[in-house]
Amino acid sequence: METIEADVLVLGAGGAGLSAALYAYDSNPELRIVLVGRGLLGKGGCSRLVQGGLNVVLNEKDSVDRHFKDTLEGGVFLNNQELAWTLVNDAPKAVHELEVKHGLFFDRAEDGRIHQKPFAGQSFDRTVHVADLTGIQIVGRLADQVYRRDITVLEETRALDLLTTDDGNGVVGAVLLNVRTGEMFIVNSKVTIVATGGAASMYKIFATSTDKSGDGMAMCFRAGVEFVDMEMLQFHPTGLLVGDSHLTGAILEEGLRGAGARLYNGLGERFMERYDPQHLERATRDVVARASYMEIMAGRGTVEGGILLDPSHLGAKFVEENFPGMCERVRDLGRDLAREGAEVIPSAHYMMGGAKIDVYCQTNLEGLLVAGEDAGGTHGANRVGGNGICDSIVFGRRAGDTAAKLAAQQGLNPCRQAQAEEIKARWLKPFSIDSKEGIYPVRDELKDLTWQDMGLVRTGRQLEGAVRRLDELMEWVEHIGLANKHLKRYNMGWNDIINVTNWVAVGRMLANSALYRKESRGAHYREDFPDRDDKNWLCNVYLKKKNASDIELSSKPVEFTRMNINEV
Ligand SMILES: Cc1cc2nc3c(=O)[nH]c(=O)nc-3n(C[C@H](O)[C@H](O)[C@H](O)COP(=O)(O)OP(=O)(O)OC[C@H]3O[C@@H](n4cnc5c(N)ncnc54)[C@H](O)[C@@H]3O)c2cc1C
Repeated sequence: METIEADVLVLGAGGAGLSAALYAYDSNPELRIVLVGRGLLGKGGCSRLVQGGLNVVLNEKDSVDRHFKDTLEGGVFLNNQELAWTLVNDAPKAVHELEVKHGLFFDRAEDGRIHQKPFAGQSFDRTVHVADLTGIQIVGRLADQVYRRDITVLEETRALDLLTTDDGNGVVGAVLLNVRTGEMFIVNSKVTIVATGGAASMYKIFATSTDKSGDGMAMCFRAGVEFVDMEMLQFHPTGLLVGDSHLTGAILEEGLRGAGARLYNGLGERFMERYDPQHLERATRDVVARASYMEIMAGRGTVEGGILLDPSHLGAKFVEENFPGMCERVRDLGRDLAREGAEVIPSAHYMMGGAKIDVYCQTNLEGLLVAGEDAGGTHGANRVGGNGICDSIVFGRRAGDTAAKLAAQQGLNPCRQAQAEEIKARWLKPFSIDSKEGIYPVRDELKDLTWQDMGLVRTGRQLEGAVRRLDELMEWVEHIGLANKHLKRYNMGWNDIINVTNWVAVGRMLANSALYRKESRGAHYREDFPDRDDKNWLCNVYLKKKNASDIELSSKPVEFTRMNINEV
């Protein structure tokens, strides 16, 4: 197979991947860096969709200790405290560099300092933003910077699987698919960074970009990476509800609730008064999303089956000036957000669980780093809004620095062509199978299963069923063939088979972890264990592959390396 040699291979070109490539290059411009994205550079991933903004301590009345505490409280104390501490400490420098090094200009307050707005779950207004189109600006500027450097960019290229050393303890690159030509090739690298951004799109109603399907997590699992807290998937409370339109699930961001927008059920009740009278709509996402879901399931939803998000009492002028992107989006759907609000529904949004990393983004496999949403631990059981893109920038930056250091210390381990051929043959299998059945029945069943049995409210019985069915879906996908045996260029049917294969792989991890954790905490709510159980479950759930595809689970008490739960 054609092989490209590289010092650093970055898989994924969102906030984490772009930052990783830039910081690796700036640490050592001699490095051969290859940056790979499924879409066009600057056009894919969720970082681009960030509306609200990024949390950072800039004001002297605020402190990193407070940001840290908010992150742990939001995460219901399951966070890896070293990662959370790194997040809040690195954020000010990362934001400063976004402005002075990369040319981004955040909105200003009247005194000329960066404007910081409120977000739910925060004890101080610390979210910096560019109106409500922050992500487009961040990704745009980072992509511009990549173009200015001697970094090899492979667009519309999809990583399929990692290549490992003989003993399986290290990673030496990846097999990739050039989506334009349908050809597979190898990048043999000293260091590989996975930053493909999670798998929330496996749910029926989801908020994330459609160029993500858990590829990074699935390939890490297949390569033997250890994972943490995979049961923790966040639902955003306010995804748009627009019938069968693909816009259903798209987010109306938290800043709107932060500014005071209210939520009403179909009976016109401000139902958060019953679920969290203290914080109301500014409660953390897990609380608001679950409350909304329970209202809908209890038959108190709107006619369309959702909840009304209503900012009208704030005044149309204020809403239109501060949330122009959202107003426009809702106007496109024939509604006036500023004056009448919009119907919303919880939407699968973000995975707190992911690959287990240390503060340098290193995994249990040598030469493999993971950054951004593919990594787990920083956010515990629930991510505080505004900490997500912050995570990608902070840890992407760190992954780049680590990769540059590691690449300087080691030579290039050759990859094994036989392993690459085996991977290639596996992904080409659908071209040799004669079956009339397409992938879409599997995809639709998977999406129903995740939504109904692995969603906002879970039970042991549902999860046991989900675990069994996901194993069957894994088998089923293996037998799906492609009608056109010759078309490899831009073959979306083939790509959908790859999507479903990887969603199922990540779904299995999530369902098994969710069944294992017998308590409710943060985003993980078990109707059969409705209480938080600190005595038995102040633990992280670890997961890795056993044999060919079995899953091995274990748990370990959370390490309170910086702050005890009683101090918060
Ligand atoms: C609608 C929406 C609004 C949000 N708003 C906020 C907010 O206001 N504040 C906040 O903090 N967070 C927000 N988030 C969360 C935030 O977007 C994520 O935390 C963050 O963008 C994740 O960054 P990432 O780099 O890990 O992944 P992404 O930015 O999603 O990038 C993933 C990249 O990987 C690529 N990729 C995927 N598979 C492959 C493959 N097989 N091979 C190669 N490339 C691949 C994709 O094309 C993409 O380039 C929001 C999320 C959504 C969905």
